[in-house]
Amino acid sequence: MTSDEISTRTRHEVIVIGAGVSGIYQIKRLTDLGIDAIVLEGDDDLGGTWYRNRYPGARFDSESYTYGYSFSKEVLAEWHWKERFSAQPENLRYLNFVADKFDLRRHMRFNSRVEQMTWHDDTSEWHLSLTSGEKYIARFVIASLGPLSQPTLPSYPGMDAFAGESFHTFHWPKEPVALEGQRVGVIGTGATGIQVISVIADQVAELKVFQRRPNWSSPLNNAAISADEMQAIRDRYDEIFENCKNSPGGFEHLPDWRGFWNFTPEERHARWDQLYTESGFAILASNFAEIFFDEKANAEISEYIADRIRGRVDDPATAEKLIPRDHGFGMQRLPLETRYFEAYNLDHVHLVDLSETPIDHVTATGIQTTGEHHELDLIVYATGFDAITGGYDRINITGVDGATLADKWRSSPRTFLGMLTNGFPNLLMVAGPQSASGSTNFPRAIETGVNWVTDLVHHATETGTTRIEATAEAEDEWVDEVIRAHERMLFRRSKGWFTGYNSNVKGHQEGTIRYQAYFGGAPQFSARIDACAASGYEGLELV
Ligand SMILES: Cc1cc2nc3c(=O)[nH]c(=O)nc-3n(C[C@H](O)[C@H](O)[C@H](O)COP(=O)(O)OP(=O)(O)OC[C@H]3O[C@@H](n4cnc5c(N)ncnc54)[C@H](O)[C@@H]3O)c2cc1C
Repeated sequence: MTSDEISTRTRHEVIVIGAGVSGIYQIKRLTDLGIDAIVLEGDDDLGGTWYRNRYPGARFDSESYTYGYSFSKEVLAEWHWKERFSAQPENLRYLNFVADKFDLRRHMRFNSRVEQMTWHDDTSEWHLSLTSGEKYIARFVIASLGPLSQPTLPSYPGMDAFAGESFHTFHWPKEPVALEGQRVGVIGTGATGIQVISVIADQVAELKVFQRRPNWSSPLNNAAISADEMQAIRDRYDEIFENCKNSPGGFEHLPDWRGFWNFTPEERHARWDQLYTESGFAILASNFAEIFFDEKANAEISEYIADRIRGRVDDPATAEKLIPRDHGFGMQRLPLETRYFEAYNLDHVHLVDLSETPIDHVTATGIQTTGEHHELDLIVYATGFDAITGGYDRINITGVDGATLADKWRSSPRTFLGMLTNGFPNLLMVAGPQSASGSTNFPRAIETGVNWVTDLVHHATETGTTRIEATAEAEDEWVDEVIRAHERMLFRRSKGWFTGYNSNVKGHQEGTIRYQAYFGGAPQFSARIDACAASGYEGLELV
């Protein structure tokens, strides 16, 4: 590259990619330390997940006050969460409130999608190119690309021929979408499908739910938070975050270690009756820990939840179709719902079981299955994401000696502590693959990751370190640890993003297992990364 070409590039010590929950906190930490850093964000505004997913029903299933940032006493004192599980509009307002409070927008460049990154070993720098043609140079790149930022669509013939409106839930328009009087088809019954179906069922003239495989789901039990309750939460914030820190999932819900088999079936059912009415992930995260490891324990809780479904759906045949047979309760990302099962008791809501009659093609006026044609005005694709590694696969990342990250991670990601990957120096990842974030309440893990990465960059700038790379040996050891933790869990056989399954992404189909996240628990993960830092970053080569 000529010196002219290099001089047209904008240079920064650190470039953060992505302005979601991770990028917002990351840029705050870096600029507080006086480090020259900017954020490049592909979208036209900040917020990531909460900027995009505007579909009716999009909301937290983490308790709002355990999801929010913990780093600022002022934010904690000033922000009033209005609901226990707050919805997308409020979540986006919250992220804007934080960014504006600390004047962070001035460090963010919007409409700046990174499409290529090339490592230059001679100068120890990354060269970045955007889709706009703009070019940057950075010593360090911090990727906060998002775990669920790359939506995926199925590839049915005729999708483009549909004459009505159709979109992925991630791309639900900002403008109001007319639902009243409409015949709507929703494809997909994962966490998003369940949220959107529950809310629009009452609003539309006819709803067809196209279900390939049912998911387990349990009640969210949402409620408003009054001013007095919010004050009580504020008074308890230190305790709340301490509890989250000590729980495997980063929630206030703590696992029950008293022993599944120490109780009679009646006692267990009485406990589950109580958990079913508690909020959020309590039924999963506060359950007997054995449900995650012991097939018989998992089968019993699955049967309990199946009975709950039977008790809520009027038509016994429909109820049976809504009960998963291919995985146990909690073995895929558990969607939480509000009157989801009751939606099927409405006369105008119909379940189309794609395991019996698969979709053949999309027509100008609807969906043709192998059984019949379904006339529709609107098609909603709730078909999920290329999870965890999708953001990385969409950037052409070339590291040492021309090796590409896409090649390295083709069959499964490989990282050291989910933070770095050998062969790609100075590329740091917040909430990256094989960190604990994928298995926990994200923001808790995001803050942990940002703090660790910031300390490392600060250490580098203080010591004049220009090149940081995870050693191949340290990476091998961490990958082994990730696999060991994965193998202990029953979900290792399930088809969901925990195991990297997505039939709409090449290489992620059935039969492939990708080790996407660390399932050893948040406290163990924090202890491990803290030990690495305390040892002077053993496992990393700092030059
Ligand atoms: C509908 C929905 C509900 C969820 N609910 C919860 C919940 O209740 N609890 C929970 O813990 N987690 C939840 N999650 C997970 C959620 O993604 C995380 O909680 C959190 O928002 C992740 O923040 P992030 O900043 O890491 O990623 P994101 O919010 O996804 O932000 C990543 C940003 O990076 C940008 N980006 C990506 N690639 C590029 C590129 N090449 N160039 C430039 N910019 C790029 C994207 O545009 C995006 O703005 C939910 C996810 C979804 C989709």
